[in-house]
Amino acid sequence: MQEKGNISIHTENIFPVIKKFLYSDNEIFLRELVSNAVDATQKLKRLASLGQYQGEVGDVTINISFDEQAKTITISDKGIGMTAEEVKKYINQIAFSGATEFMEKFKEAKDANEIIGRFGLGFYSAFMVADKVEIQTLSYQEGAQAAKWVCDGSTSYEISDGNKTERGTDIILYINQEAEEFLNKSRLEEILNKYCRFLPVPIKFGTKTKSEPDGEDEEGKPKYKSVEEDNIINNTSPAWTKSPAELKDEDYLAFYRELYPFAEEPLFWIHLNVDYPFNLTGVLYFPKIKNDFDIQRNKIKLFSRQVFITDEVKDIVPEFLMLLHGVIDSPDIPLNVSRSFLQADSNVKRISNYITKKVADKLNELFKSERKSFEEKWKDIGLFVKYGMVSEDKFAEKANDFALLQNFDKEFYTLKEYAEKVKDLQKDKNDQIIYLYATDAAKQDSFISAAKNKGYDVLLLDSPIDGHFVNYLEQKAEKTQLKRVDSDVLDKLIQKEEDAKLELSEEESNNVKALFENAIKKDNMQVEVAALASDEMPVTVTMDEFMRRMKDMAQNGGGG
Ligand code: ADP
Ligand code: MG
Repeated sequence: MQEKGNISIHTENIFPVIKKFLYSDNEIFLRELVSNAVDATQKLKRLASLGQYQGEVGDVTINISFDEQAKTITISDKGIGMTAEEVKKYINQIAFSGATEFMEKFKEAKDANEIIGRFGLGFYSAFMVADKVEIQTLSYQEGAQAAKWVCDGSTSYEISDGNKTERGTDIILYINQEAEEFLNKSRLEEILNKYCRFLPVPIKFGTKTKSEPDGEDEEGKPKYKSVEEDNIINNTSPAWTKSPAELKDEDYLAFYRELYPFAEEPLFWIHLNVDYPFNLTGVLYFPKIKNDFDIQRNKIKLFSRQVFITDEVKDIVPEFLMLLHGVIDSPDIPLNVSRSFLQADSNVKRISNYITKKVADKLNELFKSERKSFEEKWKDIGLFVKYGMVSEDKFAEKANDFALLQNFDKEFYTLKEYAEKVKDLQKDKNDQIIYLYATDAAKQDSFISAAKNKGYDVLLLDSPIDGHFVNYLEQKAEKTQLKRVDSDVLDKLIQKEEDAKLELSEEESNNVKALFENAIKKDNMQVEVAALASDEMPVTVTMDEFMRRMKDMAQNGGGG
């Protein structure tokens, strides 16, 4: 049999379009072709389990190889293969996705979700790196004739009898000059590791040497020999694909190490697992934060049916949760599409809301069940929570129950508890409740002890997010204001120490005041002369809280 024909496509020549616009990154050809090999294998297993394939499934390892001399890369699977008719149908009709049809057919079947491709374009990404592509395939069907398909990247193809004797498909890429970088072991390893590391079918790329015990030598010491074994590049059942009940803490930690070998142990994690109204699985970890650089490095990885898609999850994960690590996997997130499309996609918004809710629920659960350890972790968790509260109303609603404030007695209070604690003691003459806080324990030390000596409570709010958090608290809590402890606030509170008496006469005190005012010469500063119980601050120089925040804002370029 031999036949020549034209690939039926709507656009005269779609290849340049594929090459230029669909994929920004030509390395994803391998992701697409290996995904197809995985799909074909899953389909075969499915047919076997339905009793529609009676043959032996056997070892279905996918093999990736390359030949530097011949300039080829070959992807071989032992999946369902294709007949010549199927090649014409599925490969030639570019916009026709065989996977879509398969999904229709097996809609009821649970495993249909395991079929990656739905776009009908993946295969053609091969032409981003190859001048010529050859398919050698043999269908699983009894008595099938092997088929061969060759196409040089124009819209014409050639189909003929093939030479394959085992069930499955070989895709042979004749790599073009611009893509020769891919004819390299470590480059291919890198791509496989990036995209295919958690695919559900074993993938072999060459061999590796391993040392094995080999009896004992004359002195009775153990001997070793090196043996060549298949280099399987993937973990076919990563943690997120299992049910939470199957997993122990060690399993989650081991998976974290697999993702980020150099990172410190995470604080805790959340297993995402939902299949209605959208499909989403994943494990999100709360990292220990050492510094900003650390946070940036380990990004959340986005997968679609175990195929790595991207670690740019900006539009899928709410901004404040970008600090988390881990994996999310959803076949419902559109791939290979533009960012603006992603933003407008309603699934994406729902997924983002769901993740936010899950994270809030998990934190609430931890707080309720182990408050002590929650408090110990607050230094790390607090940053996420506060960031989340100031940026996401939905999250804030929930976080109001478990967000903590810490004072200088190292005690933690929920927002409600704290309001309760200070509401009678710390009021100004306008009946506003005043929260006192310090942003720098060392620099504001004398102010802090002065406040404490007067019986007031002082909060520590010294992290970078706290400026925003202070504004948030003021907005949310009625009749409540937050004042920095070194602002002109202490003497304006109703509850004052009565016993501390001024040791100076009024004239002396006025002189001292004038002396300081002259020395400072700033209108926005107030000078107060007093004998305080602590003796620490006979004279205080303070700045109005409002003025101070304005000044801070000007210095920080707005942030405040
Ligand atoms: P999609 O995977 O989204 O369906 P592709 O362009 O990647 O789109 O592939 C088109 C079709 O070609 C597949 O749906 C499948 O029917 C067929 N196909 C591609 N690769 C293989 C393979 N290795 N084995 C069997 N069929 C394949
Ligand atoms: Mg595909």
